[in-house]
Amino acid sequence: MQMITVLGATGSIGVSTLDVVARHPDKYAVFALTAHTQIDKLAEQCEQFSPKFAVVGNAALANQLQTKLRVRGSRTEVIYGVDALCQVSSDAAVDTVMAAIVGAAGLVPTLAAVHAGKKILLANKEALVMAGGLFMQAVADSGSVLLPIDSEHNAIFQCLPADYGRSPGIGMNSGVEKLLLSASGGPFRGMSLEQMHAVTPDQACAHPNWSMGRKISVDSASLMNKGLELIEACWLFAVPEQSIDVVVHPQSIIHSLVQYSDGSVLAQLGNPDMRTPIAHALAWPQRIESGVANLDLFDVARLDFEKPDMQAFPCLGIAREAAQAGANAATILNAANEIAVQAFLDQRIGFTQIASVVAQTLNSQVINEPESLEAVQESDNQARLYSSAYIKSLEK
Ligand code: NDP
Ligand code: MG
Repeated sequence: MQMITVLGATGSIGVSTLDVVARHPDKYAVFALTAHTQIDKLAEQCEQFSPKFAVVGNAALANQLQTKLRVRGSRTEVIYGVDALCQVSSDAAVDTVMAAIVGAAGLVPTLAAVHAGKKILLANKEALVMAGGLFMQAVADSGSVLLPIDSEHNAIFQCLPADYGRSPGIGMNSGVEKLLLSASGGPFRGMSLEQMHAVTPDQACAHPNWSMGRKISVDSASLMNKGLELIEACWLFAVPEQSIDVVVHPQSIIHSLVQYSDGSVLAQLGNPDMRTPIAHALAWPQRIESGVANLDLFDVARLDFEKPDMQAFPCLGIAREAAQAGANAATILNAANEIAVQAFLDQRIGFTQIASVVAQTLNSQVINEPESLEAVQESDNQARLYSSAYIKSLEK
């Protein structure tokens, strides 16, 4: 029996994770479920999965949830705050942690799980983007098993040699020539920059193939998501940014590919449903049923590929430059993007201004190698302050 903590249980990934877990009560049990504010949804999940702990954002919410749970006869104990998130991520009873909090808020609890040597199912790409060097060092030091949930990275993981990362043949020494990162192109594929000036948050969140939280949906629309994924792939697979090509593939059936030096290209295909990578990582190296319908290639009929439009989607180029710059550039990129995306969702800036906020913030900050978690957090904080002030100046 694998004991699981789901960080971000009430989100899109959290709900898909619990859907897979519920299909295999003989294999998985839930130790803790966490949310930020959605306590009604968390109460329902607690009733279904009877975790030992439920974690929420603050004391008032914890009291409300505890009362709701008592009324329902649940014995789940409610705790709150970042320390509580770290506690349920590192408890000795836990085998596996699904890291599915959105944004930088996921870093500290995910690192707690890494330090405790847990098996980490990583959905929270922002944690790796903002602190890649420290994160991967912590994984190496603790012997924690890190499995990618992001569909592209999970696909690449499946297409790499089984001993990749555990043998000296890592990165370009393994016969791997290129990683080909799939991108759907998002809801605005084919549009020009001008045509995107007036798009609304709801239009940006209406992804053609995937149903996801609002932050990653906006990132997918701007292609910043692909930029974050490029940086994520550099860290996960120890390859330089130049070895990763982005391939726009509107059907989202091929989730990514690995090109080898002998001319072989391996791809992972499936219906676009996050329960596939979640089930893959939960059971790895075994396979379990995920609830995802079998792929019907006759139904799919055709697969299209195109190059990304770097003019219409400047975020992808900005992220590539940040990957090249290394040091704390990705920390700054991620922080500025989180602030800009929230400002766009709050209708304080236009969609195309997201790229300007990120570029401007990157230009304004000192690029240096963060030697500690505190240095990463300081960089993140400075970038947030700068981008927030810059957005205020745009509003005037
Ligand atoms: P959602 O917005 O749907 O869910 C986010 C979860 O995190 C919720 O449980 C939310 O709680 C919780 N949360 C939000 N802010 C905080 C905070 N400050 N402290 C603690 N918990 C918090 O996001 P997704 O599920 O879509 O995405 C989660 C992560 O997975 C992201 O990093 C995303 O990039 C990544 N990912 C998602 C994919 C998808 O298909 N959705 C695909 C690939 C990667 P509450 O509900 O109470 O607000
Ligand atoms: Mg992805």
